[in-house]
Amino acid sequence: MTYSEPARTTTRRIRIRRIRVAGVLVVIAAIGAVLGYQSLASSSSTAAPPTDVLPSKPPGLRVEHRGALGEADSAVPAGTTVFDDEIPGVANLDPALLGALRQAATDAAGDGVELFVNSGWRSPEYQEQLLREAVSEYGSDEEAARWVATADTSPHVSGDAVDIEPLDATAWLSEHGAEYGLCQIYGNEPWHYELRPEATDHGCPPMYADPTQDPRMQR
Ligand SMILES: [Zn+2]
Repeated sequence: MTYSEPARTTTRRIRIRRIRVAGVLVVIAAIGAVLGYQSLASSSSTAAPPTDVLPSKPPGLRVEHRGALGEADSAVPAGTTVFDDEIPGVANLDPALLGALRQAATDAAGDGVELFVNSGWRSPEYQEQLLREAVSEYGSDEEAARWVATADTSPHVSGDAVDIEPLDATAWLSEHGAEYGLCQIYGNEPWHYELRPEATDHGCPPMYADPTQDPRMQR
């Protein structure tokens, strides 16, 4: 809403100048007009422009996908943490990955950073839907493959991957994740983490630029 401020301020200044010339009744009328203008301006600015889904946002990770398939199909409600056992997207993660995430989340909280799960385990049906949506959003199978795997290849379907948010959480993991064996796998997906136990000793392996470079995706 801040983007409408300059216009509003200008209007207010103009009105104030007029007020000096006129009498008290005009002052009251002018205030009413300004208030009316402001409420108009704020109500029109609350009508948010349509949010762009892509490419600024990765597919398959956001609220708009939740309507189509429900929680049981592994869509994760907003505000879900790695401690939310009742959420299938969390509960069905590989136990070792989940354990590492919980340790990391506990230590991150000590640093004032909260880890949220944007997406975790996914049913094959849910993964297929994400892929269909990505193909229609990106316009080609090739481009969609840079972002969304098939149900056969996605580490989300096997419970071996988690997408973390928000930015301060992924920044924290990028700095400390390796201590827990938690590694970013793809250069283009800073939110996507998997367990690489050897990382605790040797650091995380080099990243693939994107999933198409990952041999696991070549099946
Ligand atoms: Zn992911």
